[in-house]
Amino acid sequence: MSEHVVVIAGGGPTGMMLAGELTLAGVDVAIVERRASQDLVGSRAGGLHSRTIEVFDQRGIADRFLSEGQVAQIAGFAGVRLDISDFPTRHNYGLELWQNHIERILAGWIGELAVPIYRGREVMGFAQDDTGLGVELSDGSSVRAEYLVGCDGGGTSARRRASRSRDRIRRPAT
Ligand SMILES: Cc1cc2nc3c(=O)[nH]c(=O)nc-3n(C[C@H](O)[C@H](O)[C@H](O)COP(=O)(O)OP(=O)(O)OC[C@H]3O[C@@H](n4cnc5c(N)ncnc54)[C@H](O)[C@@H]3O)c2cc1C
Repeated sequence: MSEHVVVIAGGGPTGMMLAGELTLAGVDVAIVERRASQDLVGSRAGGLHSRTIEVFDQRGIADRFLSEGQVAQIAGFAGVRLDISDFPTRHNYGLELWQNHIERILAGWIGELAVPIYRGREVMGFAQDDTGLGVELSDGSSVRAEYLVGCDGGGTSARRRASRSRDRIRRPAT
């Protein structure tokens, strides 16, 4: 049985970003992703806001996104377009870039950080005991962890189960 301090259910943008941050903090983390590859069906999210670009800049990877997207004033509220070009930031704009590209670039980054990804497997459930969790995967195997984080999108299994458990499950804000 593989063992990690943290197992992340879901290798979308949220799961990959968390995995990268935990790895940089020295935490042994792995992702379980049900898709067999990073390929994404449909376009989904269409860009990045200024703050996201700032965070990527802090990690030294902003240029990877900026070189592939289109800089634009994309911030808005209630249908009103907001121009943030006079904001005191190096990135006073947003970036038009489809989610499949965002995911590919993030996957490249966590690949460089050597984050293990168990692909083509789904988190089916978990069994908690005094020292951690056994995370059950769809291929019949399991992974041992101290923490399981549900980054598996809206309304999927890890989060539903997490809402019934308070101890070792962490639910990031969505
Ligand atoms: C049709 C559509 C259009 C959208 N348009 C926009 C937009 O224009 N702008 C915008 O900002 N946002 C948009 N979004 C939202 C954006 O796509 C999400 O904010 C973003 O995908 C959230 O990332 P995430 O990593 O939290 O979740 P997701 O991208 O949903 O990733 C979850 C990952 O978990 C995996 N997974 C799920 N269950 C399990 C499991 N049990 N075990 C293992 N893996 C699992 C999935 O395969 C997936 O890779 C759109 C979303 C949809 C669906």
